[in-house]
Amino acid sequence: MEPRKGYKSNVWPDWCPGCGNFGILTALYKALEELNLDPSETVIVSGIGCSGKTPHFVNVNGVHTLHGRAIPFATGIKLSNPGLKVIVHGGDGDLLGIGAGHFVALGRRNIDLTVILHDNGVYGLTKGQASPTLPLKVKTKSLAKPNIQQPVNPVLLALSSGYTFVARGYAFDGMHLKNLIKMAVQHRGASFIDVLQPCVTFNDVYTADFYRKAVYKLDGDPGWDPVVKTPEEASIKLLRAIEKSLEWGDRIPIGVFYVNPHVSAFEDRLGERLKGYPSINPSNMVIEMDG
Ligand code: SF4
Repeated sequence: MEPRKGYKSNVWPDWCPGCGNFGILTALYKALEELNLDPSETVIVSGIGCSGKTPHFVNVNGVHTLHGRAIPFATGIKLSNPGLKVIVHGGDGDLLGIGAGHFVALGRRNIDLTVILHDNGVYGLTKGQASPTLPLKVKTKSLAKPNIQQPVNPVLLALSSGYTFVARGYAFDGMHLKNLIKMAVQHRGASFIDVLQPCVTFNDVYTADFYRKAVYKLDGDPGWDPVVKTPEEASIKLLRAIEKSLEWGDRIPIGVFYVNPHVSAFEDRLGERLKGYPSINPSNMVIEMDG
């Protein structure tokens, strides 16, 4: 079959020139194209923030919903129609601030969704306040004084919440990010990519220049194998991934941290509990709870 083209919508992306979101969007277009996903069976869900505009720019089904609530919306969409490919886009303020509880719940459930975090350390849409991933004592040009809160480590949080595919990419390494998105979408279970995304307007600390010097690829290390081969191996691989997730500063790893294909997806657990799920219309579904 010829690969599908035309995932680009006719809505003009109005992000600031030079924003890392452009790199993420380009990688997403390319990944969708190479996966040859049917636009009618693909859904992009976003919350509020600069990244929240993403569904408008992609020619698949899209929902631009409430602040912090992209994951619950995506959960409802996926569980009512498990055949859909559902991808969540959100910023660190959206997914790890107001939406943090939903982020953790998705990992615990291991629903077959992909979450792409546009991680820029600021609330860009509202003029650059410190967001959940900005480290303690860092002062960006949009802050009057240095940040006085500890940051959330998105990779560590995803690993400890139960996500079964966890990766980190960089917005301006398009080929590498495209491959991560393809792997995440193809993974069955909750998949997460933390994308380092320079905000050129408000974050003058974590710039493209900073990341160009700091990022290195895990895939370049022949000794790095993030895939859990047997269930018994899961905790060893998880501990290695957690240790690697703590690396930050002069050297920042990107690539796949952890993949565990041995955990059942939530949809499969529902299928064991709900008679007829998911092959019949959910509105006619017979629900037999066993506990
Ligand atoms: Fe991008 Fe920052 Fe501009 Fe938002 S404010 S579009 S994140 S550069």
